[in-house]
Amino acid sequence: MAKYSIDLQAGKVKEDDVVSTRGETIVGIDLGTTNSLVAHVRDGRAVAVAGPDGKSVLVPSIVHFQADGMTLVGDAAREQLLTAPERTIYSVKRLLGKSYRDLAQVKDRFGYRIIDEDEDRLVKVAVRDAEGKDRYYSPIELSAQILKSLKTRIEAELNSEVSRAVITVPAYFNDAQRQATRDAGKLAGLDVLRIVNEPTASSLAYGIGLTDEDEGRTIAVYDLGGGTFDVSIMRIEQGIFEVLSTNGDTFLGGDDFDQAIVDFWQRKYDLDIQSSAQRGEVRLVAEAAKRALSRQDSYTAEYHGQQLQLTREEAESHWGPLVEKTLQSCALALKDAKLEKEAIDHVIMVGGSTRIPLVKQQVADFFGREVNNSLDPDQVVALGAAIQADVLAGNQKDVLLLDITPLSLGIETVGGLMDPIIPRNSKVPTKVGRKYTTSVDGQVKLKVAVYQGERDMVADNRKLGEFILENIPPMPAGIPQIEIHFYLDADGILRVKATENRSGTEQSVTIKSQYGISEEEMAMMLLDSLKNAEADMSARGLVEAKTEANNVLLSARKFIRQNEDWLSDNQVSEIQSYTDDLAKAVDGDDKDEINRRMESLNDFTAPLAHEALDRNVAAAMKGKDV
Ligand code: ADP
Ligand code: MG
Repeated sequence: MAKYSIDLQAGKVKEDDVVSTRGETIVGIDLGTTNSLVAHVRDGRAVAVAGPDGKSVLVPSIVHFQADGMTLVGDAAREQLLTAPERTIYSVKRLLGKSYRDLAQVKDRFGYRIIDEDEDRLVKVAVRDAEGKDRYYSPIELSAQILKSLKTRIEAELNSEVSRAVITVPAYFNDAQRQATRDAGKLAGLDVLRIVNEPTASSLAYGIGLTDEDEGRTIAVYDLGGGTFDVSIMRIEQGIFEVLSTNGDTFLGGDDFDQAIVDFWQRKYDLDIQSSAQRGEVRLVAEAAKRALSRQDSYTAEYHGQQLQLTREEAESHWGPLVEKTLQSCALALKDAKLEKEAIDHVIMVGGSTRIPLVKQQVADFFGREVNNSLDPDQVVALGAAIQADVLAGNQKDVLLLDITPLSLGIETVGGLMDPIIPRNSKVPTKVGRKYTTSVDGQVKLKVAVYQGERDMVADNRKLGEFILENIPPMPAGIPQIEIHFYLDADGILRVKATENRSGTEQSVTIKSQYGISEEEMAMMLLDSLKNAEADMSARGLVEAKTEANNVLLSARKFIRQNEDWLSDNQVSEIQSYTDDLAKAVDGDDKDEINRRMESLNDFTAPLAHEALDRNVAAAMKGKDV
């Protein structure tokens, strides 16, 4: 049992990986929480695409539903944030792949309604139409609206149809969230060739590793956007990009910096903020103040005739804890990568919020070096996505991206134990196979339950799905050769296959998790596994002892049956008394007691087993059938 190997796909991009482009541009899309943008490679250079007015490349990730049912996306939708907040949906990315339960604690932050009929289902947003009827939209549909608008934008720029894209996601996005992003692309009429982690795209944008003369380098990508924070430690060598570790917070970003200002003003001026429209309005005023303070030392805003003042120093005193939180994530990421700060060669700054002087300075202080912010932090991710698209189009054959999986993936084995098949922080894409067998004679079915998490008992981890391998030909326990393969693709999507080798019976599933796991949960799960390592060890010891004891009991009973013609009544009853004692111990929780009883039974039966063997050999020599 438990024989396995890891087969990493390392090396250069293979010819099969290159898609035929039929001369069509493959675009790179940064589908952001706050802003989205599309980019492409033109004459060997990545460029972001501006709207028809030629002004901004950023498309605010906001969808507005007009009374007539038509939708507005981007700047036009943003303008409706104050006038019709209940029909203007922002931060859709926070909802992707999430259930109501995931969002229960934060749902009041949104100016629109998130329906809460069923705790376990994926969330939907409710929007009232002109007739006063509620219409429900999934985050996938809403994201598709944003993607469609980006598609239209670049089609106008290129004057031709665009149907293939690379879309980026935060490194922490789980399977459900990646699937949701893919589905949104499909709904927008885009064939999503690859889902790429944002930090990976950011490294590409800075061109690190794209040229041959590059020495190996270790970089940190610090991405503070409007809604999320990600830090990734990457090793880039000979055109191979490897994410060593990731950390972050899906609920920490520029929005929180705005909120800190709102809270401060509310205390200072005793502001009366009741409706969600008012909340939205103050938030916009606060955001303008924040942006201004990236350039100047103080700022005066106006809110319903009242002057609201804010100095950079005041703001920084309230932002300090937020920045501190990001630095703690940086420290954890370094720890996971088993690196000291000194090992980092470059710190890449990504996301609009890295324009804040306090952020720049604190990050530089933390890493003890100047940060790299020569590219527009708004565009970095999209530019990198465009470069990845160019690689897939076969225009840059020397680049391969390796990502990692943040939590272990495994299956349940006897006694509810977690058997991790792909350990956490493994490089993807990856394929791992492991051999199992049956534990009961004549077993014809095997349940394969797939879990994600770091704890020893599956009950403490998150179940991703299960399936049943059927039609195993009946054989004695231990004879079937069942191979379980885990395939984790470059998008982080898992396929599990089970095969019984003797009969060729095969079953496989693509694992789609029902709803998202928050990054807090992920952090909790990791923390939990550290805290409970000792308890888990002893739980595992007990389960293992019980499993072994049950096997011993089975063979003891079998032994009596097979040898009853020569065993004395006395010997049989002695064996039975030992097995009774062992069975009793198995019902208890004392691992040592079980082991002791097992030993006693073994001590007694060992000489008898020898005798049985001798008799069988003797019988065989006489040509008798045994
Ligand atoms: P996301 O990746 O979440 O879509 P972005 O990278 O587009 O986000 O960053 C958006 C955030 O950056 C917003 O919170 C915005 O207020 C903030 N931002 C943009 N420009 C500035 C600036 N000059 N100073 C401070 N914050 C800024
Ligand atoms: Mg971003």
